[in-house]
Amino acid sequence: VIRIEAMHKWFGNFHALKNIDLTVKSGEKIVICGPSGSGKSTLIRCINRLEEHQKGVINVHGTDLTSDLKDIETIRSEVGMVFQSFNLFPHLTILENCVLAPIWVRKMPRKEAEEIAMQYLERVRIPEQALKYPGQLSGGQQQRVAIARALCMRPRIMLFDEPTSALDPEMIKEVLETMISLAEDGMTMIVVTHEMGFARKVANRVIFMDAGEIVEENDPETFFNKPKSKRTKLFLSQIL
Ligand code: ATP
Ligand code: MG
Repeated sequence: VIRIEAMHKWFGNFHALKNIDLTVKSGEKIVICGPSGSGKSTLIRCINRLEEHQKGVINVHGTDLTSDLKDIETIRSEVGMVFQSFNLFPHLTILENCVLAPIWVRKMPRKEAEEIAMQYLERVRIPEQALKYPGQLSGGQQQRVAIARALCMRPRIMLFDEPTSALDPEMIKEVLETMISLAEDGMTMIVVTHEMGFARKVANRVIFMDAGEIVEENDPETFFNKPKSKRTKLFLSQIL
């Protein structure tokens, strides 16, 4: 569902992504890790076109992301994204946060959008919070709302950018459990995280990025037990 070939991205003169090749099949779970500033966020932001790449190919579910791309909304609704900082609208209730895009982008009738939203809020186990505002919820609850909100668009692919790194330890678990259950349901997922327990349990492949490049890519067993490159070994020694 995702094919990236010889892709480069610059911010002005700064070469942020260098010659990225990555293919993700339907149902695969990819974990991306690497030091701060290595380009992890930039890479996944390119996949739903929050950032534009300058060279090479990014094809999402048959559509090439090019500068004359007309249907950016289709890409955005096929690719759900969850951020470190939740990004919920603070002045809208949980339910309103969830129905906004289905109603305005998908043109779904409100009643249907609300039914679907309640299904997903149940799925992330917080239906009773539907009429509260984000500020009234814990960080872990807000992140589960952000996941439910993304799922309401019925995406084919879910991107997660350090979804647990702004959370207290006791809330990390509930968010990871939600993500594991989503993975078990067969969702295609790309997850930027340093939660190596999650990577071992869920990932088909772990990708290590450094300085804008994919340095190493392997199944979790090999990645953790027999890392090939020096840079990967150094990184793993710092986080494990
Ligand atoms: P972190 O672990 O800290 O989140 P990251 O691997 O996600 O890091 P990116 O956010 O992708 O790293 O950033 C990669 C590089 O690109 C960094 O050097 C960053 O300063 C630079 N960069 C990111 N966004 C922009 C921007 N909008 N304009 C200029 N430079 C940027
Ligand atoms: Mg980042």
